[in-house]
Amino acid sequence: MTEREHQFMQAAIELARQGMNNGEGGPFGCVIVKDDKIVGQGCNAVTSSNDPTAHAEVMAIRNACQHLQVHQLTGCELYTSCEPCPMCMGAIYWARPDKVFFGGTRFDAADAGFDDSFIYEELTVPMESRKIPILNIGREEAVKLFEEWIEKPDKVKY
Ligand SMILES: [Zn+2]
Repeated sequence: MTEREHQFMQAAIELARQGMNNGEGGPFGCVIVKDDKIVGQGCNAVTSSNDPTAHAEVMAIRNACQHLQVHQLTGCELYTSCEPCPMCMGAIYWARPDKVFFGGTRFDAADAGFDDSFIYEELTVPMESRKIPILNIGREEAVKLFEEWIEKPDKVKY
């Protein structure tokens, strides 16, 4: 770990601490860095905003993209106080930062009552055996949308 990496990780941890102490949500914080500057940040706000997706990484990605007016984070680094959960991992892959650093591990989080192991397990279970029923219906109509997308002349590809 370099000194600059240490500083940005400390910033993510301090955001997590502030969010926790301000009653925003769980103890999670995230900063996004471009050219050695913080261009986006977020802390967990699940309980205060009644938003189950308001994880620190998602908040920081939204904040950075708004700030930079981009829809992907090429050239950026993401520092998060804890290993990203599967949802945030998905968001990170969509945002495409260059590199990700995390502080605590998912096992540290589980020790504090934040256990996302069931999601990792569910992803390996066949669709028909998952705890929340997930059913494929209306495919024919839905697929027409993709045909319309393929034909759309003015689309912004991503
Ligand atoms: Zn998450």
